[in-house]
Order: sequence, then structure tokens, then C-alpha cells
Amino acid sequence: MAAPIVTKIEVTEFSYEVQDITPHEKTRIPVYQKGKVHNAVGRVLQIFTDSGVTGEYMGGNASELAGVAQCANALLGRNALAREAFYNDAKQALKQQARMGMSQVDIALWDLAGKFHEAPIYQLLGEYRTKLPAYASTMVGDDQPDGLSSPEAYADFAEQCLDMGYPAYKIHWWRESSLRRRIKLLEEVAKRVGGKMDLMLDPASSLLTWGDALQVGKACDEYGYYWLEDPYRDGGVSAFGHKKLRELIKTPLLQTEHIRGLEQHVDFVIAGGTDFLRIDPDYDGGITGVMKIAHAAEGFGLDAEPHSPGPSRRHVMAAVRNCNYYEMGLIHPRVKRSAPPVFLDYEDEIDTIDSEGCVEPPTGHGLGVTLDWEFIKANKLGSKIYE
Ligand SMILES: [Mg+2]
Repeated sequence: MAAPIVTKIEVTEFSYEVQDITPHEKTRIPVYQKGKVHNAVGRVLQIFTDSGVTGEYMGGNASELAGVAQCANALLGRNALAREAFYNDAKQALKQQARMGMSQVDIALWDLAGKFHEAPIYQLLGEYRTKLPAYASTMVGDDQPDGLSSPEAYADFAEQCLDMGYPAYKIHWWRESSLRRRIKLLEEVAKRVGGKMDLMLDPASSLLTWGDALQVGKACDEYGYYWLEDPYRDGGVSAFGHKKLRELIKTPLLQTEHIRGLEQHVDFVIAGGTDFLRIDPDYDGGITGVMKIAHAAEGFGLDAEPHSPGPSRRHVMAAVRNCNYYEMGLIHPRVKRSAPPVFLDYEDEIDTIDSEGCVEPPTGHGLGVTLDWEFIKANKLGSKIYE
């Protein structure tokens, strides 16, 4: 069979609304606020070929998809199945733009390959399992009376998630708060569900100093947390700072969400900066890129944990032995749905798990998800075409 040749790449932007959410005034991170409507922008990337097979990707932000312009020449007129060639050429073309944009294209190429070969991506990667244990990953804390506004509210929500079947719970705490209240939160949640669920903490680099990170790390030790992730304001990128932290606490660190790609992940491990590795198909060079990192981690005898939910993560996790949990989130006791309503047959919301707290990879061809083009076209803001 002749290889499909790429004829056109199109990026479409559309609008959608999310209820009871507002962007945090400083960080723009979504926060619960009753009655608010957040007007968000969604994006879809399509790769067209002369064979009629099309690859699709939904997600990404404006900066990432702006990078597509820079790497389009590495793809147009070329074999759509040659993902490794694209990975290497795009990496070179985007070397001064933090390689943004190539991940989104790579995921669409995998979708295309699955449709061409008539198989789900996880089978093309080499299936390992189809039951993926998920952790409940909270939205950041808020100040709403019925929200995640106290240590008790987080503990109540952890109990709710445990009852639903979640085997693990990850706290994203308040963007601004005292260290005392934050440590009280770790204690309260552990008191309520410790020993029944694995507990993780992701300050998302909100602690201002290494000293605060050390105190929080010691609290994680005391309350038996499973991992501590990106604790402080180095932004999660200092291998030296985290090596020093690892020497003083027992709780495993999970770093590398904020560094990009295979080589930097490997360097970070060799420098002693982390226990678990973070992998993200949207940040690390697509599915091609994260599989390289997952296998590098396997070679070190370590685990690579997928960041945030989505079809590409499910396919990767289904094909990798050395990872523990699927991140379901960000979820909140009062928010029904936070993702754009664009899949006809797929979602990642609080109640998407089965009774054992697992999700499965889609079984359709490629990513195995169907986009609601009627909705996307009705809410279209514009599009960019490369040909
Ligand atoms: Mg994180």
C-alpha cells in the first residue's frame, strides 16, 4: 500500500463555555466560583493526506499551535507515517521555540496512523494492559463556602472520591495560603483517608522557597504521602535543588513536568533530581516523544507518570508497564464538567471511572474518539491553513 502523503494541515479555533469556573486573577488557572461562566477557546488540528485518511488532535494552547507554522515544512508533501522523521526534523526546526507545536502534530500523526492501519494506537505501540487505575486530581483550592476552601472540605471530597472507587487522591492546594494551613490540609486528608488511598501533593511550584518545600516534604513524610510533585518556585526545573531535597526527606519526588523532552528528562534523573518522571504527550514531543522517555525510565528502573487526562495519555499508559496512575482531573465537588464538549464518545470527568477506579483506552482506530464537528463549526472562531 502506498504511504499517505500530507497535503494540508489546518488548525481550527472554537469557543465554549464552562459553568462555575473563573480564571484565577494572577495565574489564570481555573478556579471554582459559583454562578460564573468561563468563556474558553478550544483548538483542533487536522492533518489531511492524498489517501483520504485524516489525523485529528483536540487540545493545545495558542502558543503551542503557533509553533505548527514553524514545523509545517517538515511535514507537507511528506510521508504521514514517517513519525520518527518528523520528530527529528521538527525538533531541529523548533529548537529555539522550546519545541512547541511538534507534540500536537505528532499526536495527530498517530491518530492518522491508527486510522490507516485500522487499529487503536495502544495496539500499534504494543499493548500491555487496558485497565488504567486513576487518581482523583483536584482543582486548585478556592474561597467559596461550598468549595475546596478548608482542610475539611478537601478531606470530605477525598472521602467522596474513595467511595466512588478512586484508589488515589492528589491535592492541588490554594494558590495563596499560609504554610500552617497548607500543612493542616495534608494532615486532615491523611487522617480521613490515609491507608485507604494513595495520597499525592502537587503544589504546582506555589511554595516560594526551598525552605518551605523542605517543611512540606517533612509533613508528607509524617503523613505517608505517595509522592510530592513540583513543590517550589524554581518551577520544577532545578535538578540540584531537588537532589538536595531528596537527601533530606523520605517521600518520593515527582519532577520533570516542566522540562521538555527525552534528553532533559534523562539528564534530570542522572543528576539525582527526581524519583518518578513526569511525561506529557502535549509537552514532550507527542506520543513518539513520551514513549522514548517512558522506555528511558524503564532502563533506569524507574516509573514515568502521565500528566493530565486525555485519549493520548490512555493509549500511552496502556502500552507502558512502568507507570502507576492515570490523572483524572482537574475535578471539584461542585463542577460537573470542565472539558470542552467536543467528543461524541469520550470524556474525562469525575464519574468517568469504573467501580474499581479505572479507565480504559478507546478501542476505535487511531485515538479512537469522534469529534463533534457540528458543535465545532457552530462555534468556530477562525482557522489557519498550511499547504
Ligand atoms: Mg503537576
